[in-house]
Amino acid sequence: MSERTQKLLGAMAALGLGDRPQSIIGGKLIDGAGADVTLVDPFTEQVLLTYKDADTALAIKACDAAQKAQPAWAKGISAAARGQVMQDIARAVLANAEPLAIIEAIVAGKPIRDCRIEVAKVAEMFAYYAGWADKLHGEVIPVPSGHLNYTLREPLGVVFQITPWNAPIFTAGWQIAPAIATGNGVVIKPSELTPITTVALVKLAEDAGLPHGLVNVLCGLGPTTGQAAIEHMAVRKVVFVGSPETGRRVAMAAAAALKPAVLELGGKSANIVFDDANLEHACLGAQAAIFSGAGQSCVAGSRLLVQRSIHDDLVEMLSTGMKNIKLGDPLDESTEIGPISNARQFKHVTGMIDQAASAGASVLSRSDTLAKGYFVPPTVLRGLSNSSKTAQQEIFGPVVTAIPFEDEADAIALANDTSFGLAGAVWTSDVGRAHRMAEAVRAGTFWINSYKAIHVSSPFGGSLNSGFGRSSGTDALMEYTSAKSIWLDSAPKPRIAFGYVS
Ligand code: NAD
Repeated sequence: MSERTQKLLGAMAALGLGDRPQSIIGGKLIDGAGADVTLVDPFTEQVLLTYKDADTALAIKACDAAQKAQPAWAKGISAAARGQVMQDIARAVLANAEPLAIIEAIVAGKPIRDCRIEVAKVAEMFAYYAGWADKLHGEVIPVPSGHLNYTLREPLGVVFQITPWNAPIFTAGWQIAPAIATGNGVVIKPSELTPITTVALVKLAEDAGLPHGLVNVLCGLGPTTGQAAIEHMAVRKVVFVGSPETGRRVAMAAAAALKPAVLELGGKSANIVFDDANLEHACLGAQAAIFSGAGQSCVAGSRLLVQRSIHDDLVEMLSTGMKNIKLGDPLDESTEIGPISNARQFKHVTGMIDQAASAGASVLSRSDTLAKGYFVPPTVLRGLSNSSKTAQQEIFGPVVTAIPFEDEADAIALANDTSFGLAGAVWTSDVGRAHRMAEAVRAGTFWINSYKAIHVSSPFGGSLNSGFGRSSGTDALMEYTSAKSIWLDSAPKPRIAFGYVS
């Protein structure tokens, strides 16, 4: 057994998990009975662990368990008590941050310092939504008929969540916390490539007081478990975080079962730099926007739009600066960029760089690379237009396409010339221009002289190929509840009409 597998198993044991990824259903860790799934360490390219896919039968069992546990959670205890349990979960996550971060670093290939930040953010998510548990209420509506009309804001029932591999525990916390704060049961299917921290999170939550069965995790492949869960009668909504291609498939399956979906998909965000910007800040911002997380972020600033007069200078600054970024072992404290998370994605990213080169791009990259692992060095592509494949398709790697623009109108036109609508940013010292750009660029999140600032209290989501619906903030509370309208006639003689009472 390799040293890294031993380290992984040690972290799993510290969290009460067995020696392989297992689904957690009704409070029990259960092996799947489907096909073999293999976890490969992206740093060493060696097999870490193998487990069995949670097949259709387990998916149905998970939905049944959530259906059974949900009413008592929603109505059997006070909303304040739900909030208390969630505060306890937040504390449990913080108390176990290190083994969680180690698992994430080994399996997802993410630098350990990023993993620690993401784990802390998960605790913050539970604490934030804990506060909302007893503050969500309906309203009284002054209807003209004189009835007392009021609304109840009710949980949906059971929700099915599907998450990707790029930020596994972060995405799990991001979706589970608002769902349970509002009284729902959950079945969550993390990526088959990175399932362990989601299972660990739910196990910790149960040990902290979350009723068994309220949240269930399916470890396994999308098509086998996904379809069965989407079709299960108890599931009232599907929340999908992942690629546009799979998102379309999931949304169509949800639509066929007449269920609503939230889709958090990909992006091709424009990071726009005007010639009046502080170039040093803009350059650091551009580096963070595309190279952090090895570019495997849905909001990555993958199109760098630069005003022509400063284009060459900024590209030069960026390609010089990227030489100092430390690539290495995700477990090394000083590593800033780890490998690409898996072999399929590595092939995709390197294929896109090759394609850009054959389309005539100047490929500015680092010559140093590591002997093993799915490493792609930070790369800047120049000489391509915004209509190139590289500028239009999501690469999801540390690769940015630099494109010059003339003026504000040109920058807006280029920024919006994409099939995505997730995020964007502008760097300028003109505050009026900053606001004009923020309004004009199609994006669910937009930063001014900043990039990747996010918080659980702020809404997040996109449009077009970036999906629809909103996560985080109070918007997520709306996504996970529905309003019931109640009419009470308090008149001595009920106002009954043959038709409508108005
Ligand atoms: P993916 O679409 O390949 O997989 C996402 C999830 O869908 C996985 O759990 C997978 O097992 C599951 N899945 C696959 N086929 C399925 C099916 N038929 N039915 C049900 N589930 C199925 O995405 P990925 O490669 O894991 O992640 C990368 C993508 O995620 C990128 O496009 C990225 O932009 C996007 N992403 C978006 C956000 C956001 O908030 N907008 C956040 C993170 C990642």
